Formats: sequence, structure tokens, C-alpha cells
Amino acid sequence: MASVTLSGLRKEYGDLTAVDGLDLDVDDGELLCLLGPSGCGKSTTLRMLGGLETPTDGDVHIGDEPVTDQPPYERNTSMVFQSWALFPRKSVIENVAFGLKMDGVSEDERRERAREMLDVVEMGEFVDHDPTDLSGGQKQRVALARSLAIEPDVLLLDEPLSNLDKRLREQMQLELRNIHDAVETTFVHVTHDQNEAFTLADSIAIMHDGDIEQIGAPREVYDDPVSLFIEEFLGDTNLVDATVAEVTETGVIADTAFDTEVDVRTGDAAVAQGDGLSVSFRPEELDVERVEGTDGDGASAVTGEITDVLYRGSTVRFYVDLGGEHLFFEQSVGADTAFSAGDVVRVSWDPDDLLAFAADGARVGRGET
Ligand code: ADP
Repeated sequence: MASVTLSGLRKEYGDLTAVDGLDLDVDDGELLCLLGPSGCGKSTTLRMLGGLETPTDGDVHIGDEPVTDQPPYERNTSMVFQSWALFPRKSVIENVAFGLKMDGVSEDERRERAREMLDVVEMGEFVDHDPTDLSGGQKQRVALARSLAIEPDVLLLDEPLSNLDKRLREQMQLELRNIHDAVETTFVHVTHDQNEAFTLADSIAIMHDGDIEQIGAPREVYDDPVSLFIEEFLGDTNLVDATVAEVTETGVIADTAFDTEVDVRTGDAAVAQGDGLSVSFRPEELDVERVEGTDGDGASAVTGEITDVLYRGSTVRFYVDLGGEHLFFEQSVGADTAFSAGDVVRVSWDPDDLLAFAADGARVGRGET
């Protein structure tokens, strides 16, 4: 077990900057997810941590030890890849014990440690099987046991579940979390899947264009995103254009595209009259009820008509026309209050749940009552 520190880490490939001066601290025993869209530099960061890629600049420390110039085999890290790459002509237990053999561990001890790790990943009954007979999920568990058997200080996981189908992937996410809790090793896990990061992580570091844009506990980054990029990346939302009509003592009053004013507490953000904002109304934070008429709307409610109903598996998405602007909200399939196209509904929200972003994507504030 060990902490990890990346300082000013940079990787250039010709003119392309894949990782752009990234700083990151991972605590000893933490499970950290590097999350971001494809191409943002997650794998390159992980590979520099493991010594598979040489940084153009910056430093890697594992524990207190500077390892930037060390080759992979001198760092006590172990990597799990998307493709499990098991040896086909060796049994499951021989696969798991392989790294220990390379380390010169005696045969009896190798078998014992490999067996222990296979138990941790719940593959204890498959020790003598040929890996080619196993399912994808089972192979990935064996690969995980193989990487853990050498007792790495840090386990590096590069999209290890993305070859699995959805059901198995979700099951393995929970199991991976349990395995982490059992072995207490530091895990750095790369994924582009928000749900996977939310399920697994103690902390999520969200990457954008080669750098970390925000880091925090899953709930923290979801509830308190620092930018529009993060707000949109972490979940579908309604972004409504607004214009600052008035600057007040605590913030601004903005006119939204559906003719409702929102008050935004802006703190230190510099916002001027006439500035354009994007206001995010998360679908799960909208309250919707069927109504007869359009009277009685206030500052935190609007009335409109359901125009479209979209079935999305376990949820149904409803679009509401608010005089040309649309908002969507979702309900679980089978919910008591399912709506139909043509229904007139009143949509309301708690102003505190609204987030406002400036034209450059920086968050300028939160709504206030
Ligand atoms: P991610 O893991 O977030 O999908 P990567 O770290 O794989 O992103 O890649 C970041 C950027 O660096 C991408 O634009 C990718 O095309 C580029 N890149 C990665 N590896 C190489 C390489 N060996 N040579 C040239 N460009 C690379």
C-alpha cells in the first residue's frame, strides 16, 4: 500500500499535448477513478504512473519514493487492462502465480498466495481450470487476482470492465469495490463511464483536455460541479439560456428563455448586466404535477404542455413545451403519476438546486429563493 503523487505531469506526442501539467494526490488505500471522455489523457496518465510511458515533464512519487525514472518492474505497481491477456496453456492458478514465480517466491508459497487471491475474487473453485473455458467476467477476475497476487503498492486499472456486457459490468463494479475493501490496496481506476466511477470511487478526478478539472467524492462533484463541462458530463440536464437583467447585492437576477426570472447568488464571480448565462435544471430536481389551467405560476414554477414521451428502458422521459422552450424530466417506468402527451403540467423547482454558468463554462453561482 502507498500513496501516489503526480506533480506537473506532462506528456507531449509531437504537437499534441496529451497530459498538460497535471497534479494529483491519491491517499494510501484509496480507490480513485480517473474519469473523462475518450481522448482526455486518462490512459496516458495511468501509463506514466506505471512507468509504461515516459513523461515529457513532471514527477511521479509512490509513497515518498520518486519513481519517475524507474522502469515498470522497479515500481511496485501492477496493471489490469481491458483485455485480460491470460496465458491459455496454463491453469487458472498458474496464471495467478505467474508474477510470484518471476519474483522468485517458492512454489508452496506461490500456490498459497494465488489460492488466497482466487478466493478474494470468488474464483476459488476454478483453480485447475483452463482460462479459455471461462466467461469474460471470470477471466477478468483471474486477471485481477494475478495483478493482486504480487501485492502491489498501487493497482492500476485501465478500463478493465469495458469488454463486459452491461449486466456483468454492473455486477463486477460492485465486486471490484468489495475486492478493494478486502485488500486495502491503493487503486487508480480509469473509466469514461460516470456510473462506474460513482459506483466504485472514494474520489473521482474528472479530466478534461489533459488536466484534472475537479476532484472530490462522487456526491460532491455531482452536487457541486465547478464548470458546465462537469455538469453536462456527469448527467443529462436541461440547460436554459438566461440574460443578466440586474446586479444585486448578493448576486444577479437573470431572465430565462422561458420568461421566468431566477435569482443567482454569485459570490465573487464577476457578472455584469447583459451577460449571457446557462442555467442548469437537473431533470431529477423538477417537481411536476398535472394542472387544469396556467394560472398561479411564480418565480420557481412554470406551466406547459407535455409534447413527447420517450421510453428509455427503466425510465420514461417527458418533454414539456413552455412556450417554445422545452424542459425534460424523467420518471421510473410504472410510476403512479405517468403523464401523456397533451397533459398540462406545472413544473416547479427549488431555486437552490439551480446552477448558473458563464459563457466560458465557469460556474458563477447557485440559485436562491
Ligand atoms: P483517454 O485514455 O482519456 O481516452 P489517452 O490518454 O489514451 O486518452 O490519449 C490522450 C491523447 O493522446 C489522445 O489524443 C490520443 O490520441 C493521444 N495519444 C495517446 N497515446 C499516443 C501515442 N502513443 N502517440 C500519439 N498520440 C497518442
